Amino acid sequence: MLIVFLGAPGAGKGTQAKSLSEKKGLTHLATGDMLRAEVAVESELGMKARSFMDRGDLVPDDVMIGMISGRLKDTVSGGLLLDGFPRTVAQAEALDEALEAAGAGVDRAIYFEVSEEELIRRLAGRSTCPDCQRAYHDTFNPPATADGCDDCGTTLLRREDDRPEAVRNRLVVYETQTTPVLDHYRTAGKLVSVDGEQSIDAVQTVLAAAVE
Ligand SMILES: [Zn+2]
Repeated sequence: MLIVFLGAPGAGKGTQAKSLSEKKGLTHLATGDMLRAEVAVESELGMKARSFMDRGDLVPDDVMIGMISGRLKDTVSGGLLLDGFPRTVAQAEALDEALEAAGAGVDRAIYFEVSEEELIRRLAGRSTCPDCQRAYHDTFNPPATADGCDDCGTTLLRREDDRPEAVRNRLVVYETQTTPVLDHYRTAGKLVSVDGEQSIDAVQTVLAAAVE
């Protein structure tokens, strides 16, 4: 089973990807997390990607494709959930080619539909624990004490690209570059749209049915 998650930043892909990949025993490749890990260790790839990410721009196709194709070989046979890739049509085409070479293909592309208003509301309040990765939100899921993680007490971090200017840019970039990716999978008959404004549990139920 090979699943691709599509949708704007803040659409809830990461949360759902974690639970679905656990339930179905799929390898979860979250390219955003992979990139942030590269930035944290200041690797060559991380240094190249950082300025794009901080502005809320997409990391160039060649960097993304290089990063993913290295991981595809070892993971594709056991089932895979891709979260954050592909983000452009060029990336979608490169993915098709790489998978075809491995005798596989995308089974489902799940599109998380969320209005722009709701996306801004969700993204602007996010923070994460840099130690245990627990996620918080100022409005929906605040920590018990201001800015400290409930589980481990570490000071919470706000991502550079969750600042308001970067959020607005990310949504513009998404609209222009990622929306055509929906057509790529729609044409192939693989696109399934999910209403991403429902509760986390409701989205989970719809997803489970969509990947049966
Ligand atoms: Zn923590």
